[in-house]
Amino acid sequence: MPAESPPAPKPAPPKLNPVRVSIAEEAVAERTTDFREVLHAYSKEDAILEAKRCIQCRRPWCVEACPITQDCREYILQVAKGDFDEAARVTLRENPLATSLCKVCYHYCEDACVVKKKGVPIAIRHLKRASLEYGESDLVYVPSKPKNQRVAVIGAGPAGLMAAWELGVRGYSVTVFEQEERYGGLMQTIPAYRMTDADVETDRARFRDLDVTWVKGTKVGVAFPVDRLLKEDGYQAVFVSIGTSTHRTLGVAGENLPGVLPALDFLKEINRGADVKVGHEIVVVGGGDVAMDSVRSALRKSGGGHVTLVYRRGRQEMPADPEEVHGAEQEGIRFIFQKAPVRIVGTDHVEGIMVQSIELGPPDAGGRRSPLPVPGSEETLPCDTVIVAVGQKADLQGFGSDLDLKLTSQGWPEGKGKGFQTGVPGIFAAGGRSVVYAMGTATEVADAIDAYLAGLRGEPTGPRPDPFGGEGTFVRPAGYTTPIRI
Ligand SMILES: Cc1cc2nc3c(=O)[nH]c(=O)nc-3n(C[C@H](O)[C@H](O)[C@H](O)COP(=O)(O)OP(=O)(O)OC[C@H]3O[C@@H](n4cnc5c(N)ncnc54)[C@H](O)[C@@H]3O)c2cc1C
Ligand code: SF4
Ligand code: SF4
Repeated sequence: MPAESPPAPKPAPPKLNPVRVSIAEEAVAERTTDFREVLHAYSKEDAILEAKRCIQCRRPWCVEACPITQDCREYILQVAKGDFDEAARVTLRENPLATSLCKVCYHYCEDACVVKKKGVPIAIRHLKRASLEYGESDLVYVPSKPKNQRVAVIGAGPAGLMAAWELGVRGYSVTVFEQEERYGGLMQTIPAYRMTDADVETDRARFRDLDVTWVKGTKVGVAFPVDRLLKEDGYQAVFVSIGTSTHRTLGVAGENLPGVLPALDFLKEINRGADVKVGHEIVVVGGGDVAMDSVRSALRKSGGGHVTLVYRRGRQEMPADPEEVHGAEQEGIRFIFQKAPVRIVGTDHVEGIMVQSIELGPPDAGGRRSPLPVPGSEETLPCDTVIVAVGQKADLQGFGSDLDLKLTSQGWPEGKGKGFQTGVPGIFAAGGRSVVYAMGTATEVADAIDAYLAGLRGEPTGPRPDPFGGEGTFVRPAGYTTPIRI
């Protein structure tokens, strides 16, 4: 009997290159004098080199971790081949806010990237930027056959914009109502050294052939009641995507003194080009991303002043994006941990902030260690400006109890029903803790609205059509198994 041939050797696992192609950034001394962009785009050549590090996993964890199922593995492949036009098309196929997100997304995909086990993950967000910078990105979305049904979207933040896109490409007629004069929601407060209004407008311009009407300067619930949309104005469904447009306060004495600035107003006014004044000794209270944007913006506005961040928990507990914390540290921001404000000191202007030491107790139900004030540990930090960045909340004026809204721990309202349906049939509500998470929940809402309206038409519902008018529909990339929520 002939001897059995030995089994074919298993292919060697692909070699991981743990070293990321570095991303150039503006030098600290220059960038802190104005609001110029900090991170530079990759050159074409560097983008191709970085994309070649991706081993094209059969199970793409990066895609599973993206709340909008962006097929990043595919656009990375196209960049690696040097086909930037195809990379841009693939990117925009699932991501109508890609020009904004390629600058500010918290890149959950990178945290899940397999290369992170050995070194620095693939620069997935930055490769998205390279796709759009070097590829043909002035593409226009195409609506499918009109459905002759109207949807009102209240709020033009990332959730509202995503829903308008999802429903617009499915052939619905959408009206987006926004209380402000500009679109983008809280993206309007992100400082220009990270992204600008022009990025939102570039994204919105690709919607131009969809049946989307934009109504700005209209606060729904105040300008007219919400239920008028369904009862009198001819809309068959409403999406309440009002987010968290107002700031939380410290609730301490002295908060109304001149020199105390709510972070949201401070950042928004700077972006509007207003002449925002800060002093030379600035204290920012908070530990999240808004606090990071505030310290770095205050530094740029202060003309050589000193900026201190006061946070009531420790460094490990800070919810801010590590990339932003690193940027603030590079720029010389002083961090004071485990101190909480007791009152703001001054007679007719801020002169200081009294803080108290905090000990961290055992973890609460959410796993965060609870802050416990230490009696007798008060001290006053002299300063002339205090910026309050301790969170946001929704402005629910005009949104009644009939909607039965749930307020999330981070403040935005959402419906409790399937697909975020509220207590009123046809009205849905949702938002998100980051731009891309808000977009992800908006997709869920759009699916639910599509199903609801298809039911009214007596038709079955289907997947999202190809937003560029091709024959295909939305399919998850090969190898995708289950969404990861980070
Ligand atoms: C300073 C700052 C920096 C941030 N940085 C990042 C970042 O780098 N990356 C990231 O992913 N996320 C970041 N975020 C978080 C992100 O911006 C939000 O998670 C996201 O914008 C939420 O989207 P949304 O659509 O749910 O709500 P929002 O963005 O709050 O949008 C809601 C919109 O509804 C409008 N509105 C409210 N009430 C009404 C009404 N009655 N009628 C009409 N319109 C109304 C508001 O004016 C607003 O435009 C940042 C947030 C802030 C404040
Ligand atoms: S949208 Fe954000 S999470 Fe999704 S692939 Fe792009 S950078 Fe990653
Ligand atoms: S997980 Fe990382 S290496 Fe794998 S496909 Fe995604 S980006 Fe490439």
